[in-house]
Amino acid sequence: MQTKDYYKILDITENACDSDIKSAYRKLARKYHPDIAGNTTDNIKRFKDINEAYNTLINKRKRYDYDALRRLYSYTKTSTSAEDADSDNYNSADFKTKYQSKNYFHGMWEDFFNSQYQQKEYKKQPQPENGSDITTEVIISLNEAINGTTKKINVLHTKPCYKCHGRKFVNNTICSCCNGTGTESEHKKFTVKIPPNVKNGYKIRIANEGNPGINGGKNGNLFLLIKIENDSTFKYDGCNILKTIPITPYEAVLGADIEITLPTGKVVMKILPNTNSGQKFRLQGEGLLLNGIKGDLIVTVVIKIPKNLTKAEIDLYKKLAEISFGNIRKDT
Ligand SMILES: [Zn+2]
Repeated sequence: MQTKDYYKILDITENACDSDIKSAYRKLARKYHPDIAGNTTDNIKRFKDINEAYNTLINKRKRYDYDALRRLYSYTKTSTSAEDADSDNYNSADFKTKYQSKNYFHGMWEDFFNSQYQQKEYKKQPQPENGSDITTEVIISLNEAINGTTKKINVLHTKPCYKCHGRKFVNNTICSCCNGTGTESEHKKFTVKIPPNVKNGYKIRIANEGNPGINGGKNGNLFLLIKIENDSTFKYDGCNILKTIPITPYEAVLGADIEITLPTGKVVMKILPNTNSGQKFRLQGEGLLLNGIKGDLIVTVVIKIPKNLTKAEIDLYKKLAEISFGNIRKDT
């Protein structure tokens, strides 16, 4: 019977520690990977042996069992062959015992190779595996976030390769369809309804539309991560809408009613006399509705001088400069 010496396969000693095993495995797996060494039967067999040796020796329980059997096997092999040479001396009862013991250990050895984890890992019996979740970003405008919308989205799903069914190999050669990854990609189109008043970072769960499960495993879920487009005219902070608006110097001094266009419509805001640049005004209930709470519109006013002032306007500013005596820098 042919036995595999995992230590020899990995070219390490029986005292090798985990890091020795790992580095030996990495070196050999790179060298003998059929993609690199060539897709020959020998290379594929060697590559499988290297993997088998690694998976056994790196697992403490498997290594313990393997070492025990290996010691037992080498012991019976030596002892029986020594006695075989002395064949004239044994009687039929001795022979029977020896024969049985030899078979017994061989049987154990085979049992080891056919044990449940061998079947699971090397024979790749189909095990149900749940599909993973997919998260995809959906970018919407602030207007869409407030009013709700319907979006068409394209989602990339990963499913087992149709040719090798995720096994990576077909007839002992790397699957030509997936190049040994065992997976293939598929674009799936969805039309999704985004409810009104969604917040930035809001997640919508679409059950069972994630990556497909394998061998009867459950499908993953699809999550839509809502990103509200940065609108240069608005910003948002939770359910509050933030907006900066320019006012003229005379509006700042005299006060004014100014019209502001919001995604929800228009509002008129009262600027009080003597308003300074950077001053904030809160318009209650003009923000986004989130979890039953209506946010506010927060307006920051900035005093701006209109471009292309007329001569008449400049003359008035000159006049203003002549008659103005308030020193605003007194306390600075
Ligand atoms: Zn494949």
